[in-house]
Amino acid sequence: MKIIMLGAPGAGKGTQAKSIAKKYGIPHISTGDIFRANIKNGTELGKKAKAFMDQGMLVPDELTLDLVMDRFAQDDCKSGYVLDGFPRTIPQAEALTAALAQNQETVDYAIDIAVPDEAIVERMSGRRACLTCGATYHVVYNPPKKADVCDICGAALVQRDDDKPETVQKRLTVYHEQTQPLIEYYEKQGILKQVDGTKDMSEVFEEIIGILG
Ligand code: AMP
Repeated sequence: MKIIMLGAPGAGKGTQAKSIAKKYGIPHISTGDIFRANIKNGTELGKKAKAFMDQGMLVPDELTLDLVMDRFAQDDCKSGYVLDGFPRTIPQAEALTAALAQNQETVDYAIDIAVPDEAIVERMSGRRACLTCGATYHVVYNPPKKADVCDICGAALVQRDDDKPETVQKRLTVYHEQTQPLIEYYEKQGILKQVDGTKDMSEVFEEIIGILG
């Protein structure tokens, strides 16, 4: 099963993608996590990506596509995957469609998690992340058991640079300009499913399971 998660930054794509991956036994591929791992490891790709990410901009398609295509080539992707944060532009979506078409494959579902901008701004200001294992939390809606400490690996939680208020507005603008057109792109392919992302995380997940079966 090949699934794409769509939605504004902070809509809950990552959280839902992780639950989907666990339930259906497919890998969760987050381009944001891959970039952050590269930044942490000080790679060339990480250095290039950081400059864009810190400003709330998208990393250029050339850098992103190479990285994703390498990931798709790995063995665990044979039975499908859930993509979180990719594609984020029409050229990326077209590249994905073309790469899959080479093996007579297509994406099965594009799930759009709809959340209004005002709610996104409120959510992102409370978001905390573990840079060691990639887990994400929210100080109000999904708090860790112990404040500022990751439940999974015990590392200190931080507010990502790109979740800072000044960057959030920029990311929303970028989302509306470059990523939102994907909703229409996948609607035309007949695989778009929309869920109400303002609901509780577990309710959103139930709705998604109802779609995926
Ligand atoms: P995320 O964790 O998905 O919110 O991604 C964090 C940041 O990584 C984004 O704001 C972008 O700067 C960058 N990024 C992640 N995925 C992509 C992508 N598919 N294309 C371009 N930039 C991306």
